[in-house]
Amino acid sequence: MWASGEEAVELERTDDEIINEEITGLLQQFFNNKKFPKADNIIITRWGSDPFTLGSYSYIPSNSSVRDIELLSQPIYADPAHDKPVMVFAGEATHPSFYSTVHGAFLSGRKAANYLLDADTLPQNDGNIRIVSKM
Ligand SMILES: Cc1cc2nc3c(=O)[nH]c(=O)nc-3n(C[C@H](O)[C@H](O)[C@H](O)COP(=O)(O)OP(=O)(O)OC[C@H]3O[C@@H](n4cnc5c(N)ncnc54)[C@H](O)[C@@H]3O)c2cc1C
Repeated sequence: MWASGEEAVELERTDDEIINEEITGLLQQFFNNKKFPKADNIIITRWGSDPFTLGSYSYIPSNSSVRDIELLSQPIYADPAHDKPVMVFAGEATHPSFYSTVHGAFLSGRKAANYLLDADTLPQNDGNIRIVSKM
């Protein structure tokens, strides 16, 4: 089963046994069978509270837009005249249309690698590209 949003946060705080009972109730309803058995064991991920993940994948909240993703994906330059960035960003959260997906992560990684390999692929500095002092 898959939970997201506020329900997922709430479920992470809920005891496994209670979740198992709730799931059993849902399955009994779904199969229209009151005798549908409770599972002997269930495995529950808690990515939101796991310090090594702190969530699953990105989404655009109502007070945000795809522009935030574009800003997040901008390379960092040591100096405006320098043709290669000193730092590039990749990952699903940096792809403007395929965020939340494996192919978005893959494509963003390829684009970031190209930034480093080929200066011709660099985006024009539209005033939003971040510049840091020389490293
Ligand atoms: C339940 C679920 C189902 C999904 N189903 C699909 C699907 O059907 N199709 C699809 O396309 N996508 C799916 N996705 C999304 C897809 O898995 C992600 O979009 C993709 O894995 C993101 O890749 P990434 O490289 O950007 O980030 P990640 O795969 O999250 O990699 C980030 C890495 O950085 C590591 N890390 C984090 N912080 C640090 C740190 N401080 N130091 C060092 N390392 C760190 C993490 O441990 C992790 O290994 C699903 C995701 C979930 C959770």
